[in-house]
Amino acid sequence: MTKKVRDNFTAQTVKFLRERVNNFCSNPDCRRLTSEPKQGGASGINLTGVAAHICAASSLGPRYDESMSTEARKDISNGIWLCNRCARLIDIEPNVYPTELLQQWKKNAELRIFKNSNQKFSSETEVEKELHRALLKSRLQDFSAITNHALSGMANAIHKELKLLDPRLDIYCSHLGNQTLYEIHAAESMQEDTVELKFKPFNNQEFQQKYYDLIAHGSGFECHLKEFTSNSEALNALIPTNLKDGMVILKPKNKHCAILELTDENQNIILELDGTFISGNKSFSINTEKYGGLVKAHFKEISFNEKTIKKSNFDLSIDFSYWDGVELKRLPYFDKVKTIYQKLYEAKTLKAKVIVNGLDLYTAKSSINSDALINPNPV
Ligand SMILES: [Zn+2]
Repeated sequence: MTKKVRDNFTAQTVKFLRERVNNFCSNPDCRRLTSEPKQGGASGINLTGVAAHICAASSLGPRYDESMSTEARKDISNGIWLCNRCARLIDIEPNVYPTELLQQWKKNAELRIFKNSNQKFSSETEVEKELHRALLKSRLQDFSAITNHALSGMANAIHKELKLLDPRLDIYCSHLGNQTLYEIHAAESMQEDTVELKFKPFNNQEFQQKYYDLIAHGSGFECHLKEFTSNSEALNALIPTNLKDGMVILKPKNKHCAILELTDENQNIILELDGTFISGNKSFSINTEKYGGLVKAHFKEISFNEKTIKKSNFDLSIDFSYWDGVELKRLPYFDKVKTIYQKLYEAKTLKAKVIVNGLDLYTAKSSINSDALINPNPV
């Protein structure tokens, strides 16, 4: 007689089968975790495993043993906890997965949990990271000893390993004398969790002032450190918390190409200089030069507060030391500088225009005190 009824496990048996292997699939080549917390909400689980029958629950199923009693078929000894995929696999090919093999899997899976009870659980990814960290440490030790062509290959390998530890950052190492320089960039595809860096400086007051200047004026930041911590595994693997002689240099990504245009009251261009524009939340400044640094112009501390510009300083300087030791007849750019000087002397007002990334950003006007300039055309 063909039996249609399934000798299902009781809920209690299913629970025991699952918990005796801690939710891991019992297939030694799989060992996937078969439950996880539901993503939406604070309760519920997603179960991706099943209490599978070793000998089928009904007569048409795989490995069915008609000599078994209903009780024996429903008994915990006839069950094995598997992930959904493995449960399907053993039923598709019962010849490849005979009863004896499945019993062996089950025994070993339970033994494995027993042996590892009260141990810290590490996922595959975590073990991989641990390995990378160890590898990295040994490489870094070698790194300081190597000084030639092997260096760039080594630096590349270290960069890749660090990337695995923390994909949010691009870290480049270089070694010079007794110093190691770690250049840290935010990765292009910055994820939502931010990288946190904590510094304990040698001098708190100095640190605060510099930090203020960075935020307010966009100035570069350089400070000695005695302690460094972060939430980045890559940085933690690289940099010890306590530093003997550490230094942090922050270079804000706020530099833009700028053009400074100086005109007289009739819109005649006196001078046009190229340079960089740097901004913070309280000021911006622009540094420009021309003729290899002979002529320099600098706008500084143009403080703006709720759209009101408070003060501006503008320096235009000619660095005559550029001509030091050069024969008088051969002074480079002499004619250019003379022309600029002449135009400045003749101008009544000076208009300065700052163009950043092609956009007019700022215009200032000031009168020129010609008495301060020596007449370039003496009578
Ligand atoms: Zn599995």
